[in-house]
Amino acid sequence: MHFNTQIVLDTLHIKDWLINSGEILVIAGPCSAESEEQVLTTAHALAQEPGINVFRAGVWKPRTRPGGFQGVGEEGLKWLSRVKEETGLPVAIEVANPEHIQKALEYGIDFLWIGARTVVNPFSIQEIAECLKGIDIPVMVKNPIHPDLKLWIGALERINQAGINRIIAVHRGFHYYQRQQTRNSPMWEIPIELKRLYPSLPLICDPSHISGKREHILSISQKALDLEMSGLMIESHYNPSVALTDAAQQLSPAQLHEILAKLVVRKTNGTLEFQNRLEKLRTEIDKIDAELLSILAQRMKIIDEIGEYKKQNNITILQIKRWREMLHERLEIGAKTGLDKEFLLKMLELVHEKSIQIQMDIMNRQEKD
Ligand code: PEP
Ligand code: MN
Repeated sequence: MHFNTQIVLDTLHIKDWLINSGEILVIAGPCSAESEEQVLTTAHALAQEPGINVFRAGVWKPRTRPGGFQGVGEEGLKWLSRVKEETGLPVAIEVANPEHIQKALEYGIDFLWIGARTVVNPFSIQEIAECLKGIDIPVMVKNPIHPDLKLWIGALERINQAGINRIIAVHRGFHYYQRQQTRNSPMWEIPIELKRLYPSLPLICDPSHISGKREHILSISQKALDLEMSGLMIESHYNPSVALTDAAQQLSPAQLHEILAKLVVRKTNGTLEFQNRLEKLRTEIDKIDAELLSILAQRMKIIDEIGEYKKQNNITILQIKRWREMLHERLEIGAKTGLDKEFLLKMLELVHEKSIQIQMDIMNRQEKD
């Protein structure tokens, strides 16, 4: 999986908000608002859980194919107003166009989110951004369906440039052409890169849409928290078995309660003694990495020599017998040292690929001369 990491930093102007050390933001509620009873029953059950900060429900549903349940629309906003009134929880809905935003404001919705299918389209995002000008409301931006970090950042920028500075990025996984264990592939490297580029941008995880099935939600949530994400958006329905959308991934309020109780929210910093020891270990790692890089550079220099020598003697670059022997021998050494085989294989293949490419370049260069 490759994605471009060469993105220029610090184009977002974001308020410092939301992140209180040791706490996480939890947004919970059904995938879709289905009936007044379903919304209120679910909300009242969730409001019993002190760890839940925001109630969510989709009132306009982006469905892959026509004919299914498309959401209850404006009617659902009335139910959400009741949720707010009766439970005191702020409420969040998905918006996909200016009309949705107008309606959300009319009904006093507190948080908006932009769904993965909308984020892929800069026309839609621009339209939404224009409509948000002059409005002060927090906006959550899900990652686009496909693994394109630039597109995600582009949407965050457009919303931010409209003057919205309470923005939350939501990692909900990526569609991937190979079959995966989960509905969407988490591709953790993408939210990690977003966090590296924008350390002050709050980033939360939606484990429901990554998982697709409720049994993966705990482990995905824990992983997100271990990667220093600031919160979770989790789908919950008072009776998931009758849910009209995403039934397999929704949790009952009791199941959600169990998961929240099991989650470990780790600290980002420890005691002075811990920090000192960590610092020492990190210094060792820095030294080893410097050595590794220097050895790698030495290896590549020898590859240059081999490339020249093969060219002079008219010898093929790739020699399968040698490559097979190398792999076999190195994997054997690796097994003895306890290195993970899959990791080692990936690394050896990467180094070999680069070595072949260097030799190819040498051949081509000399042919042109
Ligand atoms: C949702 O949160 O219900 C939703 C439709 O999510 P996504 O845009 O991530 O698919
Ligand atoms: Mn859903």
